[in-house]
Order: sequence, then structure tokens, then C-alpha cells
Amino acid sequence: MMHADFYIPTHLFFGENALNKGKDMLTAAGRHAMLVTGKQSARKSGALADVTALLKDAAITYTVFDGITENPPLLTCFEAGRLAAKEGAQFVIGIGGGSPLDAAKAIAAFAANPSLSPEDIFDDKKRINPALPIFAVPTTAGTGSEVNNYSVLTLPSGLQKKTFKAPDSWPRAAFVDPRYTATMSNDTTLSTALDAFAHAMESYLSPRSTLFSENAALFAAREIFDVISALPTTYDAEMRARLALAATAGGMAISVTGTGFPHPLGYSLTLLDGIPHGRACAVFAGDYITYNEKSESGRARIANFAAAIGAKPAVLKAFLPGVAGVSLSMTDDEIAQHVELIAGAKNYANSPYVISKEEIFEIYRAHFKTK
Ligand code: NAP
Ligand code: FE
Repeated sequence: MMHADFYIPTHLFFGENALNKGKDMLTAAGRHAMLVTGKQSARKSGALADVTALLKDAAITYTVFDGITENPPLLTCFEAGRLAAKEGAQFVIGIGGGSPLDAAKAIAAFAANPSLSPEDIFDDKKRINPALPIFAVPTTAGTGSEVNNYSVLTLPSGLQKKTFKAPDSWPRAAFVDPRYTATMSNDTTLSTALDAFAHAMESYLSPRSTLFSENAALFAAREIFDVISALPTTYDAEMRARLALAATAGGMAISVTGTGFPHPLGYSLTLLDGIPHGRACAVFAGDYITYNEKSESGRARIANFAAAIGAKPAVLKAFLPGVAGVSLSMTDDEIAQHVELIAGAKNYANSPYVISKEEIFEIYRAHFKTK
């Protein structure tokens, strides 16, 4: 029986002037907004100025919180949530890469539930009030956070990530204007594209995929591979538009399925070794293909996926980790630390072949054991 369920309660506005197309949704959301950004990119990309101009036009006041760092810390979101409540924010707009967008979702929940402790956010029974309405203005083309309800937060130890996901943490609207991605460096452009590709591949292989998530995933993978396999030295407006739409499609695909094992394995490289999220996931893309080819259904799915994007599985196995360009060396103890921190992730069950902890060790050893 064909699985074809699909649910995305986010209104997507795509293209030049996306904010203008959807501005009525923003201005109807309340009289005071909390704008959530990182240090620079919301300003540099022009997205913050476009949002504030629109709010001023509608006589809506706002507070800017620009303290979101990469891999947003739970405690920063907690503090920003308190500030949002104190300032009387009635809605939250995340502007930036996945970090500010994910943070906006947590901030919207904390602001509406002032009695929560930081860790309580993960407890569905403790979040009593509905989150403030959330809006998303991405400035990277990677995470797809603008069209899903995941908020990947860094726990206070700084060593582990945990995903917060609630029925009310979907953005009400996503304003995807590819022009905001033009200020990204080539490095960040490639890394975020690799993240979106990982979403597409991991979603396509997930046992939870449906007709619509699979087609979104194949569209995303095809577009991204087409752009990045040429190893461009500059990204023109058309390439940026293709990557932005593909990343959003990838975000829709994982909203249905979740991600597979490259994601948790990558989290350890990001938090312990400072490798950007997309590159960190791409390191394990070849392993993901190889292990899934061990199962019959995985092999068939990989073959379909590769055929749909016009590249042989062997090419993907070499290209993705190669272009990630990550070279690290670790002792056995360091490898053990990486593995222990991600041992409890739920992602392992989410692919045709379910890897064991021993196999995760093997994968890390094969990549990094040189000490
Ligand atoms: P990011 O962490 O939001 O940003 C990375 C860097 O890129 C920052 O230095 C940022 O600057 C800069 N940047 C962003 N937009 C820019 C622009 N237009 N021009 C110049 N620089 C720009 O990167 P990301 O890869 O988009 O997000 C990664 C996070 O999302 C991770 O925490 C990951 O776990 C999470 N994630 C979430 C999902 C989901 O489904 N929700 C999926 C995958 C990953 P500023 O600091 O100045 O903003
Ligand atoms: Fe990701």
C-alpha cells in the first residue's frame, strides 16, 4: 500500500520579495515582535532590514535578540525566552541560518511558558501554554528549519545536541528569499548545501517516507547535486535560487521522516571538533550508502535514489565525503568519547539497515584513527 500522508502547517512564500508577498500574515500576528538572529548575517544579508521596515510600516514594535550562536545553546534560548516574555512579545521571527531559526522555536515555547526550567522544554506535559506564533526568514540554504518543527539545541554540557519538537513549533510562515543567501561564503554555501543533500538522502531512505516526502527528497537531491557537482567557484543568483528551493524541499522531506545516522555521527564532529554541520554529516554519507546497501530494500532504494539524480552510488560515496574535506585524527579514547555522546540517538532505527554501536566505532575508526 502506498504511503502518501503529508502535513505541513507552514505557509511557504518563495522568491524575490517573499516577505512582501506574505506580509499580511506577519502583521496580523501581534503588536510586538521578538526578532531572533545571530551576530551578523541577519544584518549583512539585508533580511533584518526588510523585516524591520515591514514592521515599522505596520506600526508594530519589536525587540532584537542577536545573541544566537551556531548550534544554539538551550540556555541562550531560555534567556531569550524570558526576555521575550518581559518585553511582551506576541510573536517570534527567526532570521538567519538554522541556528537562529531553531532557536526561535524554543524561544517561542519558553516565552509562552515562563515557569519552565531549561530542560523542561523537552517535556510535553510541562509546556502547558501554546508557543507564540513563529515565523522564519532563512539566510542559508541548508537546514530546511523554516518548514519543519525541529529545533536542534545544544545541551548545557556543550557536548550533546537534543532535538526539541512540538506540535506548535512549526513556523506559521516561511519567507524564503534566495537573495538573502548571496552573502554566504563559498564554504558556508557548500556546507549548508551538503546538509540539505543529507536531508534528502536520509529522508528518501527512511522507512517513514511517503510519496510526497520522497518526491521532495529526490527534487532536492537532484538540484543540489547538479549545482555542487560542478564545484563552482562562484554561485550566481540562479544557483542560489535552486539551492534555496532545494533546501526547503529537503526540510519538508525530513519533517515527515526525520534523519538517519549521518546526523548524530556528525553532531559529535560539530561539537567536539568544530566541523560545520553540513560537512560533518557529509563525512558519513558514503558509510550511509555502504551500510544500507547491505540490506535488500536499502540497496534498491539507493539504486533508485542514485538513478534519479544521475550519479552512480560509487560516485556519491566518493564525492560527498571528499567534498566535505574533513581531516581529523583521533585516539581510541577520543573515538569512544565521540561515540558515547551520540549512542542514545533515535536516528539509527530510521533507515533500512540499522547500525550497531560497534559499527559506529568502526566508521569513526576508518575515518579518523591515525593516532
Ligand atoms: P548557522 O549555524 O545558522 O550559521 C552558520 C554561519 O553562517 C554563522 O556564522 C552565520 O552568521 C553565517 N551565515 C548565515 N547566513 C549567512 C549569510 N546569508 N551570509 C553570511 N553568513 C551567513 O548555519 P546552518 O547550517 O544554517 O544551521 C546549522 C544549525 O541548524 C545546526 O545547529 C543544526 O543542528 C541545525 N539543523 C536544524 C535542522 C532542522 O530541521 N531544524 C536541520 C539541520 C540542521 P551569524 O552567526 O552572524 O548569523
Ligand atoms: Fe541537518
